[in-house]
Amino acid sequence: MTTAFHGIGVSTRPSVALGPAFVDGRGHRGASPTLITADQVVAEIDRLDQAVVAARQALRAVRDQIPRHTPINIADFIDTHLLMLEDAALVGEVRRIVADQLCNAEWALQVQRDSLVRVFDEMDDPYLRTRRDDVEHVVQQIQTFLRGDTPPSERSLQDLDGRVVVARDLTPAEAILLRHRGAVAFVTELGGPMSHTAILARSLGVPAAMGIHNITHYLRQDELLLVDGETGTVLADADARTLAYFRRRLRAIEARQLRLRRLVGRPSLTRDGVEISLLANLELPEDVELAKANAASGVGLYRTEFLYMNRQDLPNEEEHLANYAEILQGLDGLPVTIRTLDLGVDKRVDSASDLGAGVSNPALGLRAIRLCLKEPDLFRPQLRAILRASALGPVRLMLPLVSTVQEVDTVLSLIEQIKRQLEREGVAYDPALPVGAMIEVPAAALAARALARRLDFLSIGTNDLIQYTLAIDRLDESVNHLFDPTHPAILRLIRMTIEAARALNRPVSMCGEMAGDPRFTRLLLGVGLREFSMQPGALLDVKEVVLQADTLELKRRSAQLFARLDEMDPGALIDALNAA
Ligand code: PEP
Ligand code: MG
Repeated sequence: MTTAFHGIGVSTRPSVALGPAFVDGRGHRGASPTLITADQVVAEIDRLDQAVVAARQALRAVRDQIPRHTPINIADFIDTHLLMLEDAALVGEVRRIVADQLCNAEWALQVQRDSLVRVFDEMDDPYLRTRRDDVEHVVQQIQTFLRGDTPPSERSLQDLDGRVVVARDLTPAEAILLRHRGAVAFVTELGGPMSHTAILARSLGVPAAMGIHNITHYLRQDELLLVDGETGTVLADADARTLAYFRRRLRAIEARQLRLRRLVGRPSLTRDGVEISLLANLELPEDVELAKANAASGVGLYRTEFLYMNRQDLPNEEEHLANYAEILQGLDGLPVTIRTLDLGVDKRVDSASDLGAGVSNPALGLRAIRLCLKEPDLFRPQLRAILRASALGPVRLMLPLVSTVQEVDTVLSLIEQIKRQLEREGVAYDPALPVGAMIEVPAAALAARALARRLDFLSIGTNDLIQYTLAIDRLDESVNHLFDPTHPAILRLIRMTIEAARALNRPVSMCGEMAGDPRFTRLLLGVGLREFSMQPGALLDVKEVVLQADTLELKRRSAQLFARLDEMDPGALIDALNAA
């Protein structure tokens, strides 16, 4: 007979999963106190420190596997935990307890956990109260290594494919790994809709039900589970009718995916025969396969920051070149737009960790092209490598965060110098390598014509354009609700940029998240955008809209709507344009 468990659904869209349970029986084992002698204190603290180091390494390893450009910055969650591992209020205090109370590290950790959790529990703010989860996760992580246990993310890896993971709690890091290893849903005893793991599950598109007390005790290993990530319901031992209903829902969701797959081989043409270029954004060389599987016509944005991450030194020219060559080879003749280093604020690396330190407003500081121009030793190897790669296949070079024409002029003359240098050395490059800039700050959009005159193409980076135009910190959760691609100021800047580029016959694309959101496709087609670059997973959703669109009609209708931009609610404008 069907048994139902009710928890908190964390998905905001219909999302169901069905699969055998993988019950993580590790649960939450309380630590017990053991007394140590004064001369054992150093060794005990050493054991604690080693567990902290191991926990830190495990978290870093997970962070390295995260696709960066998800709607929320997943890496931030892990960074929060990494910071906690360094926080004196946690580990420093545990060391003190070991020394003062002459007890084992597990017990000291539990004592300190209890006192921190009490503080969080007394808080009125529900958001802050959920941050106690972070303390729990970090403590658990250290306890795991103190006990010498294998974390769930490293166990039974081979047979997680298609399984529903049931655990007392999951850290965001574990959730990412479990997903990578094929888990189809998460069910936990702890956690709520505002917990980091919940936000993460939404972003990964994994159905999750949380806050179901003691569920790890009630479910059997391999038992078939049905999980509704919207309502938070978990059904075990389901009867035939319930199973049939669930399967129908699953089929409807899968059918849409299949329908989309059929679009892979279709040329990307609108109903009136206009070709629309659908390109992929790339974070890591591995993503090339996904881009090709979704019929990308090339890469419109290759973010090269990852080359600089998780290392103490800077990549040299040969490393850059080898990486670009690998991507070109994977792309099999399709073009790639390589963006030069865009470091700063949200994209820090160890080799430049003091970046922004002590600066009152790093988002407005020395980042991206500004940093590269100030540090030619950082910039030159990358420019040389991009030029050399241009001899191997179709490459474009793109500059991030440009705000003045002087910056462009300086880069262009640096490129000219490097070309002469390569010629002297007898090294091949494409003399016609296209150089373009991202339009990411309002100043650049307003000066798009002047920039386009000097450059071969423009690409609109809406993520930053929205941040800088609306004065909203991309990383600040408290103002995220104001992040609005349909704000009249944003729509005007986008249209202005497209018109400026087109007036000079320069290609213009969009590579911010807005380009991959099918709700905006018709609007962007209406204002003349013909090149869209996005996360590979969104390509077919956007293509579906493109195939149904008529650019002439959309041009006419968007012009009408733009004329009324100040009178109407921007959301209504999008709805009007999307209505058949
Ligand atoms: C953007 O700002 O829109 C963009 C594509 O660049 P990033 O998200 O890497 O800052
Ligand atoms: Mg940007």
